Amino acid sequence: MRYTSRLEISAEAYRQNLQFIRSWIGPKPEISAVVKGNAYGHGISELVRIAEQAGVRHFSTFSSDEAWQVKTASNQASTVMIMGMLHLEELPELIGAGIEFFVFDFHRLEAAILAAKSIGKPAQIHLEVETGFHRTGFAERDFEKLSQMLKQNQKYFQIKGICTHFAGAESAQNHPRIRCQIERFQAAKTYFTAQDIYPEKIHTACSAATLLFPETHFDLVRIGILGYGFWPTRETFDLIKNQIGPDQNPLRRLLTWKSELMSLKQVRSGEYVGYGKSFQATEDMTLGIVPVGYSHGYGRNLSNQGQVLIHGVFCSVIGTVNMNAIAVDVSLLTQPKPGDEVILIGNQGQNEITVASFAETSHLVNYEMLTRLPREIPRRVID
Ligand SMILES: *Cc1c(COP(=O)(O)O)cnc(C)c1O
Repeated sequence: MRYTSRLEISAEAYRQNLQFIRSWIGPKPEISAVVKGNAYGHGISELVRIAEQAGVRHFSTFSSDEAWQVKTASNQASTVMIMGMLHLEELPELIGAGIEFFVFDFHRLEAAILAAKSIGKPAQIHLEVETGFHRTGFAERDFEKLSQMLKQNQKYFQIKGICTHFAGAESAQNHPRIRCQIERFQAAKTYFTAQDIYPEKIHTACSAATLLFPETHFDLVRIGILGYGFWPTRETFDLIKNQIGPDQNPLRRLLTWKSELMSLKQVRSGEYVGYGKSFQATEDMTLGIVPVGYSHGYGRNLSNQGQVLIHGVFCSVIGTVNMNAIAVDVSLLTQPKPGDEVILIGNQGQNEITVASFAETSHLVNYEMLTRLPREIPRRVID
């Protein structure tokens, strides 16, 4: 079966990004590859394979289903860490498989004790502490009860880590809040040390914190978007670019998104194209129909806005993005024909369509656009 488009994932680009991250953090901190959201749309199994080849041995997921996917794809016995959702009934299996997970409330902590007892194997947990993100994490008022429970149930736990997550390190307007979080985290760390509780690894940093707050690196950094070759925001790049030399972008996009021309259509000046009246031709033109639409992750916000590359030339999206197709202006091309390669993201000839050009340069567009790429689109690793 062939799909209407395909994704190519560059292993070489990943190695380059990893090299940049390593040069930024120095030799000590471990790098955990964050592969939630189907590895930011790249495909968990593809990304795990590439990352393990590049030497990564630690993976972070949001949920247990993703953790099992990593387990299945891994052939290096890498560490798998769930940062968010798991079902308590799954705990015996997860603990049995040695999958590590965040514990951020007593509900999960108690269930983990029971599960560890029932299977006779300690749970490998990371204590998530609340420092100001206010989503998950033990608050300071919980610390006393928490440390008591940990001490009373020592044999049911290996405390693999203590951690927190920052509330928007990619934007300078949040930095006072981030600094406050760093202070609170230090205080929490000090508290548990004083209680003779020694987590194996201290970790707090996402990509933006890794770039902007070296004091957050500790023993391990949790790297998502940077690994895939994108800056968390334009602003993050602007804040560090004088540290990496002028006009140099050390990151490379892994992803190329390709389709092909399905059909060609002549339209006369004055005719409307597609649904409704969003586009009326002002001259005779040739349209190429590309079999990719919003159901494939090509957003409707690209109606009359997006561009693709065909024969190395930018071609504009004409009219609205449909569920399964777009029309693009191929009037400038010599002899376009069905089957010609269409680049939705990536390079062709001298030109490039970037992910950022995909939408307004509003906040965190890369994350959303990438993770909306449907799972069914075939992914192919290019070594
Ligand atoms: C998503 C996530 C990360 C990685 O974020 P990036 O900005 O993509 O690097 C790190 N830690 C936690 C808890 C996350 O949810």
